[in-house]
Amino acid sequence: MTTVVQQLGQTISAEELKALNRRFESASPQEILRWADSYFGPRAAIMSSFGLEDVALTDMYWRINPKVRVMTLETGRLPTETYTVMDQIKGRYDLEIEAFYPEYGAVADMVAQHGFNLFYKSVDFRKMCCGVRKVAPLNRALATLDAWVTGLRRDQGMARGLIQIVEWDAPHNNYKINPLANWNFEQVREYVRDFKVPYNELHDKGYPSIGCAPCTRAIKPGEDLRAGRWWWENDPNAKECGLHVVQKADGSYSVGHARNGANGAR
Ligand code: SF4
Repeated sequence: MTTVVQQLGQTISAEELKALNRRFESASPQEILRWADSYFGPRAAIMSSFGLEDVALTDMYWRINPKVRVMTLETGRLPTETYTVMDQIKGRYDLEIEAFYPEYGAVADMVAQHGFNLFYKSVDFRKMCCGVRKVAPLNRALATLDAWVTGLRRDQGMARGLIQIVEWDAPHNNYKINPLANWNFEQVREYVRDFKVPYNELHDKGYPSIGCAPCTRAIKPGEDLRAGRWWWENDPNAKECGLHVVQKADGSYSVGHARNGANGAR
């Protein structure tokens, strides 16, 4: 069956996209979300890992549209504290959290062949696990949408410095909207504080960035903010899980994860 998103394709011309991004450079995240809501309606959703940026975005979007859609990748290996904040957000905003799970057979095969904690054995095995538990569910989620909203910020480093506020995400056949692109971590923290948004208590225990439990640890003072992610891996450039694909100036795509920022999508 042809999905609506396949029928949609890219509907905003390159020129219109440039003009939108010029306009949004000085816009607030709320103005960007208001546009996203009016343009895409229920075909847009926040892809949330329930990190600080994502809960702030949820609060902002909910104030614009109380029926905002919130999706998450439920890898099966998340910290208890993340499930706690999921329930808190669900209760506070009366939202259905749309959770996308890994396929049972793919997890069972992977674990049978390589073990439950395969990710510690090599970068390739870690990427295999992220592929099964995150990337495949993300692709399934995005196949139901025309636009996904993320908490990515430009100051999170590496390829994230290149993000636009509204992007055509060709590999996912979706628009990707990054309303917090121009915000810094302190602005996010302030918003969460001011609006008393429920947040993951691990942020107060040395975890600026939170992913799966076995792959995230607290950081020490002075450490890179993402040092706690896949901490056993030495190459910071390998610290990506394949969720975010950024288009570079030459038109090629780079799979980018933050090096020195806090949490966005996992
Ligand atoms: S972060 Fe770790 S447990 Fe989670 S999907 Fe990736 S490798 Fe697997």
